[in-house]
This record gives sequence, structure tokens and C-alpha cells, in this order.
Amino acid sequence: MAQKIKNKIKFDKFVELEKKLVDFTDSPLYAYRQKNNYKPVLGEGNLNACAMFIGEAPGETEAKTGRPFVGSAGRILEETLKNIGVNREDVFITSVVQDRPPNNRKPTKKELEVYKPFLKELISLIEPKLIVALGNTPLQLLLEEYNIVLPNPSITAMHGQILKVTKNMKIMPSYHPAYLLYNRSKTPEFQKDFEILKEMYVSL
Ligand code: URA
Repeated sequence: MAQKIKNKIKFDKFVELEKKLVDFTDSPLYAYRQKNNYKPVLGEGNLNACAMFIGEAPGETEAKTGRPFVGSAGRILEETLKNIGVNREDVFITSVVQDRPPNNRKPTKKELEVYKPFLKELISLIEPKLIVALGNTPLQLLLEEYNIVLPNPSITAMHGQILKVTKNMKIMPSYHPAYLLYNRSKTPEFQKDFEILKEMYVSL
């Protein structure tokens, strides 16, 4: 019963946040969204997930459908998850910026800043035990957010490492799946990171 109530509260909060994002007219990406008839992409998955995957920003397929990681990068993520026995519905998937930047360019500092409250609300709603930072953009944002200082914070140096944030939360950086589309040689490293995740998953 208590769990049912908790789930309902979480769901209502998520819907409220989604509405806030739809009405985010102050966003520097709002006009571009409207002009192209795109949708914002808050994220999807299990609101009680132990693991949360955070990418950079929606691409065209995502903005057209309103769903995260459903294009070619999404297929890589989904398959790699399947290989370790996890369905995408079991985890929660989102991005640091929840509207598509023009031509898939990197989000600007301003965009990262204005979308951060949405990400923070999602993290406190889901309370993941593990956050997988997919690529450099989410990694740098999370390191800054949680005041984690590393001698070499690059994704190349940090992928597959487990960073303890609090007693209940860890971060694991890995490559962004879209990066693998152009750097196939990195695929085994990405798969190895997910094997580490699999090991951890049982104890999350
Ligand atoms: N890349 C991301 O970072 N997020 C998506 O939703 C899709 C591609």
C-alpha cells in the first residue's frame, strides 16, 4: 500500500515536471522546438530504477517522438543493456538538456544551466543508486554538481570507474553511444563498462 502511494506521488510529480518542460517558453531552444514541431524529451523508464542513464541532448528522432535514445545511438544503448540482461524499461534514461539543439550541436553553457533544474528534479524523484554518465557533457556537469575533483576528469580516463557521491549514490562514466558510431574501436571498452555495471547491478 505504502509503495503504491509512493509510486502515485512519483508519477504525479513526473507529469508535473513534464508539463513544466512543455511550457518552458523561456528556454533558448523553445523557438527551435516550436518551429520544427519537435517535442521536449524529459526521459522515460522506471521511476523506481536503481540505475539512471544520462546523455547529452535529444537528437532528431528523439525530438520527433519525445522519447530518449530511440535513434541509432539508442539502439547501441539498448543492445548493450540487453547483453547484460537489463531491459531499457527497467532503468531510467534522460539527457542533461531536454530539447534538441540545432543540428545536434553541443549544448551551450546557458542551455546546460537552464535545463539543470529539470535534471536535478529527476534525480531527486528517482533517487538512483547509480548514475551512468554517457559522455563528457553529463560527466562534467555531474562532477561540478557534486563537487567531485579529479586529477584527470576526461571520459577516456574515467570510463568504467565508480565514483562514490554519497552513501547511497555512485556515478559511473562511460562513452556516449553516438561516439561509438564513429569510433567503433571503442565498442569493447563500452561493453566492458557495462559488464562492470552488471556486477554492480546485483548489489544496487
Ligand atoms: N543522445 C542523447 O544524449 N540523448 C538522447 O536522447 C539521444 C541521443
